[in-house]
Amino acid sequence: MSDEFPIKIIHERNICIGCCACESIAPKIWVMNKDNKSDLIGAKKVEGKEEVYELELKEMGENMEAAESCPVNCIHVEENGQRKI
Ligand code: SF4
Repeated sequence: MSDEFPIKIIHERNICIGCCACESIAPKIWVMNKDNKSDLIGAKKVEGKEEVYELELKEMGENMEAAESCPVNCIHVEENGQRKI
């Protein structure tokens, strides 16, 4: 992680239940897919993990709120390498 991108969003897509909460809170970065799970726009798949994606960002935006609203806790947020949720 670089200083330029201190925020990391992690999506455990395998346990997403497709409730749409993340998309309704942060629609610029979360979008529902045809398979009824959400996608973290621009995220890269974590190597060696089934359906886990991560994205580094400059700013938190609404992602903390989206993570807190996820009913199955499959959105995680790190700031400067520290897990916030
Ligand atoms: S809030 Fe969680 S369970 Fe709901 S669509 Fe987003 S990632 Fe999936």
